[in-house]
Amino acid sequence: RSLLGSLGKSRAKFISAEETTGVSFSDFAGQEYIKRELQEIVQILKNDEDFQDKGIYCPKGVLLHGPPGTGKTLLAKAIAGEAGLPFFAANGTDFVEMFVGVAASRVKDLFASARSYAPSIIFIDEIDAIGSKRGGPDIGGGGAEREQGLLQILTEMDGFKVSTAQVLVIGATNRLDILDPALLRKGRFDKIIRVGLPSKDGRLAILKVHARNKFFRSEENKEALLEEIAELTEDFTGAELQNILNEAGILTARKDQDYIEREELLEALKRQKGTFETGQEDSTEIPEDLKLRLAYREAAVAILACYLPDTHRSFIETNIKSIRSRPNMHYDETPGRVFSRKIDYVNSIVRACAPRVIEEEMFGIDNLCWISSKATTEAAKLADLLILQTGMTAFGKAYYRHPGDLVPNLAPKLEALREEYLRYAVEKCFSILREYHSAVETITDILLEKEVIKAAEIWDIFEKAPRLPQKH
Ligand code: ADP
Repeated sequence: RSLLGSLGKSRAKFISAEETTGVSFSDFAGQEYIKRELQEIVQILKNDEDFQDKGIYCPKGVLLHGPPGTGKTLLAKAIAGEAGLPFFAANGTDFVEMFVGVAASRVKDLFASARSYAPSIIFIDEIDAIGSKRGGPDIGGGGAEREQGLLQILTEMDGFKVSTAQVLVIGATNRLDILDPALLRKGRFDKIIRVGLPSKDGRLAILKVHARNKFFRSEENKEALLEEIAELTEDFTGAELQNILNEAGILTARKDQDYIEREELLEALKRQKGTFETGQEDSTEIPEDLKLRLAYREAAVAILACYLPDTHRSFIETNIKSIRSRPNMHYDETPGRVFSRKIDYVNSIVRACAPRVIEEEMFGIDNLCWISSKATTEAAKLADLLILQTGMTAFGKAYYRHPGDLVPNLAPKLEALREEYLRYAVEKCFSILREYHSAVETITDILLEKEVIKAAEIWDIFEKAPRLPQKH
């Protein structure tokens, strides 16, 4: 469907109610509880008066947060599509201009247009571009300008009366941590929903959505193939899964074949992985600066493995011969029965932080690259495991249904607890790596020279290393 194009000065895209976004909740798969929560909001939007009689009002703002490509924009469009309301889409970066006063007037403009079509929906993607913490680092300049824009958003949201026609504001961000807390206060974005990476079942459901218009030999064949791909795509986003199916479709057409087969799907998967993971085995092709980063990463992982040993496995050796988004360290499973205590789960979170912590420490936060990007998701996953599945935290096991399907109202509580564990883990990891900084450097040097280092040598360095005194 075509968009009506840019809307006056505000630059926002406008889709009228008659046209609709053409997107419904059935286009979003996985994380069913998110849909249930948003469906409730759509119900209220559609039957405003009935609900108001009962004293129930629609939230003014819904904030969707989570990694890019997880379907936040899709959900915002689905809300508009399902409610049959006009949709105004803007991007936080549209408001950030160097000329004084422009940001605020663009925001004003956008809200005025939306109000004239109310009930309607405003979607602001990358809201962090304009809504980051005031007084924070001024990346890219334009700080004062951005602040004006943010203040204007706050004014506009405070301005609508709950009793008058609704403008629902949906924001999306992958940086909840840098948003100005004023945005999250009651009466502004008071509904915060995390859109996370899909679970295996979620991935299968997403693949099925995007396989709807594709041809397979048979239903059973399709089911089996998608099941296999879902299994192989841990940590993939919905957007990446969609790419795999599209790419497989293209490969199939190129071969003049009628049906997508296993071969095309696996080839498409390999290509999709290749966009962030080369898996090269020949280190001569790895650029020097990447080698240095890899060496530091492996050294940090090794030190953490010595300091907080894993009860389930012991490490054998590591190398910098290949580039993967996960550490190259090899392990041996510990034989026999192993039981984990709470502290073991906590330690696993601390260990998972190592690639990210060392990269930030050595190269600076603005120079992070993808070789440490999996560490954050890994640590968050381990924290969720501890919180939700072990019964060892305040959550117990009672609230847990399936991965990614939490009883709705508990999501913010989970988030708070997860953040507490992650903050602890990052700090602990930092302090261990600082204490053992000289051992990290030694292991890094050996890796750069020989490309491989074995467990015995790592232990030796760890035990003999001069340590920096700990701050308490
Ligand atoms: P975000 O706004 O979170 O960056 P998008 O909504 O732009 O992500 O996602 C890009 C595309 O990826 C969507 O248009 C959709 O085709 C696909 N996609 C992402 N997540 C899902 C999902 N959960 N179910 C179905 N499709 C998805």
